Amino acid sequence: MQSLNQDVLLSGGSNLGKPIAQCQQVIQYLQQQAAVRLVAISSLYLTEPVSPVEQGWFYNFALKLKTDLSPFDFLMLCQDIEKQFDRKRAEKWGPRSMDLDIIYYGSQIIESEDLVIPHQHLAERKFVLIPLAEIAPEFIDPQRNKSISKILRQTSDRHAVLLYEKKWFETQAVVSL
Ligand code: ADP
Ligand code: MG
Repeated sequence: MQSLNQDVLLSGGSNLGKPIAQCQQVIQYLQQQAAVRLVAISSLYLTEPVSPVEQGWFYNFALKLKTDLSPFDFLMLCQDIEKQFDRKRAEKWGPRSMDLDIIYYGSQIIESEDLVIPHQHLAERKFVLIPLAEIAPEFIDPQRNKSISKILRQTSDRHAVLLYEKKWFETQAVVSL
C-alpha cells in the first residue's frame, strides 16, 4: 500500500452544464485514483459569482485528501479532470463546468508561473474559505501563519455563500481502509 503522505486541500466549483452531478463525478473520479485518498468532503454551497462577467451562481465544495503526487502532478490531475468536463478556457472569470484549485499542499509554498500555493486568491474568496473552514478550520496557512477560520473571520469578501446541502454525497467522511 502506498504511503500517501501529503495533505492537500482542494476547492471545486461549477456553474455550467449539470453542476451538482459534475461535482459528484469529480469526487467519484478522485476516489478511483490509486494516488489519492479522500479524507473529508464539505457540504455543497451555492455561491454568488465573484466576477465582472454576468453568469449564474456556482456550486462550490472543498475536499481534504492525501496523495503521493507532487504538487505539479496534482495540478495536472486537476487540469485533466477539468478537461474531462470540457471546460473552455476562452473567457477568464467566465462560467465553467468545473474549476479545481489546489488551495494548500501541506505547508509548502510554491510560486511558479503555473502553480501558486497557497492559492493566490483564497483570502478574498468566501466561496473557498467557507467550505474549507468546515473541513479544516484549524489548518494553518504557512504564509500568513493563521488558521483558515481566522482568515475567514478577517476576509472582506461580502459575496453570498449559502449552504445548499449537507449530505450531497453519499459518504460525508470517507474513511480510509
Ligand atoms: P481561477 O481558478 O483563479 O478562477 P483559472 O482556473 O482560470 O482561474 O486559472 C487556471 C490557471 O491557474 C491554470 O493555468 C494554473 O496553471 C494556474 N494555477 C496557479 N496556481 C494554481 C493552483 N494553486 N491551483 C490551480 N491552478 C493554479
Ligand atoms: Mg482554477
